[in-house]
Amino acid sequence: MNRLTFHGHACFTLETSSGHRLMFDPWLDGNPVADIGTDAVDRLDYILCSHGHHDHFSDAIPLLKKTGATLIATFEIVAFAQKQGVADGHGMSIGGGYRFPFGYAKMTPAMHGGQVAGDDEGVYTTHAAGWWLDLNGVRLYHAGDTALIKDMELLHGRVDVALLPIGDNFTMGPDDAVRAVEMIAPRVVIPMHYNTFDVIKQDPHDFARKVGSKAEVRILQPGDSYEF
Ligand SMILES: [Zn+2]
Repeated sequence: MNRLTFHGHACFTLETSSGHRLMFDPWLDGNPVADIGTDAVDRLDYILCSHGHHDHFSDAIPLLKKTGATLIATFEIVAFAQKQGVADGHGMSIGGGYRFPFGYAKMTPAMHGGQVAGDDEGVYTTHAAGWWLDLNGVRLYHAGDTALIKDMELLHGRVDVALLPIGDNFTMGPDDAVRAVEMIAPRVVIPMHYNTFDVIKQDPHDFARKVGSKAEVRILQPGDSYEF
């Protein structure tokens, strides 16, 4: 089994069936809805960052240095982190995948901003991305921050569990997320990137009603886990 724990916003810990511990988009200490702070994170093998905005990246460098985890992100974000003294990084680009010890990870397109928090000169500006993971046959999609994009159709039938933003304003909102569910046809959908700030306030139960029978919607509160 793989165990996914939601920490609020777009941050998740994933304990894989292979025994590895991953974190997506670490943002804990400044995150108003997070269930834990970085002080509670002791062991991580990998950190995966979808893009460089502060609400996905600001705790990455401190946690990479604390845990010795390997950063998996775009080539530019990894280069920035290494400039800040991070030892282990694996740079990738959209459309590329790589077989890691925990499974295969592919970087998917996302339509969003590319600024890297902390990069004051703008030298490391990059593409925003999402993640498609094949964990020994179980497929997980973390969409990152994105608009509804036609490229999601390419994932049709290839996703078991989809983590989709529903907050609107910065990403797609609930109606577009329902269209994403139709395009991807995952077995399970977990909404994310909502209710962190007033401007992305959403009712996940309303989203679940709109998804209806198209997929099973699992609404996780920060601290909740889902096993798959
Ligand atoms: Zn965001």
